[in-house]
Amino acid sequence: MPLTSSADVGQDVVVRFAPSPNGLLHLGHAYAAMIAHDYARARDGRFLLRIEDIDAGRSRPEFVEAILADLTWLGLDWDGEVSFQSARLDSYVQAAARLKAMNLLYPCFCTRASMRELQKEQWQKEGPDGPIYAGTCRHLPPDEIRARMETQAHSWRLDVKRALAITGPLTWMDERRGEQVADPEALGDVILIPKETPVAYHLAVTVDDARDDISHVVRGQDLFASTHIHSLLQALLNLPAPIYLHHPILIDESGGKLAKSRDSASLSVLRHAAVDGHKIIQELRSGIFPVGIFLTEA
Ligand code: GLU
Repeated sequence: MPLTSSADVGQDVVVRFAPSPNGLLHLGHAYAAMIAHDYARARDGRFLLRIEDIDAGRSRPEFVEAILADLTWLGLDWDGEVSFQSARLDSYVQAAARLKAMNLLYPCFCTRASMRELQKEQWQKEGPDGPIYAGTCRHLPPDEIRARMETQAHSWRLDVKRALAITGPLTWMDERRGEQVADPEALGDVILIPKETPVAYHLAVTVDDARDDISHVVRGQDLFASTHIHSLLQALLNLPAPIYLHHPILIDESGGKLAKSRDSASLSVLRHAAVDGHKIIQELRSGIFPVGIFLTEA
């Protein structure tokens, strides 16, 4: 994949690496951080580090410390202060309030168990991020909504059809694959305010990429489908749309993504074993991967 293009040099390039501190980073993260870092550096741009710790139940300070130590050990230096999503909750709550005021969010009372059941019964469509929500709570009568909201835990979902009716057709730019027609319906009515946490990934990341003036979102192709939703949220919230670059990701022999739980590939283990972090990055840059680890097709 070309990392430099003379046409881009001189633009205000701002790129970020945005890990969630809910586990130890592995080689797949080192690869993703390297691609984003090198993208910025090759263009005299800025490389920001954002810790996506909105899920207080799963985020741990020791994982934040490990992320900072891993990136330093790898020689992937970031610019400016590290930002934390947990310190920016107000801006996500405000964005959610705007969407609610536009009548684009609806409360959803479904539980995981009830959705699993429904999936069996109704043969829900499988989307890129799991089954697509069947829309059970989309058109509940207002009286029922009011009554259930008093007693039942609920999340808030984006009514994607209604949102698209406001924005009309949308496109977004992927630097490798060209212009994409946004297809947020491929993910269905995603949850923007979960039951357990103040905001969901899709909303927080969209608000933050605008707030941080990210010009290029450089991230793994496993997040390609999410961009359809991010593009819709940008249009609804009047936020600028960055250019996207979804790069191939590291996978194991079975074709699965490397998992944070798989200690063998964890960067901390290698760091503590005094392995040379700079050398690891040099190898990843040269396309040299450990036995049993591969790159998805470009
Ligand atoms: N926080 C997300 C993750 O760790 C990545 C977000 C993004 O790059 O958009 O998977």
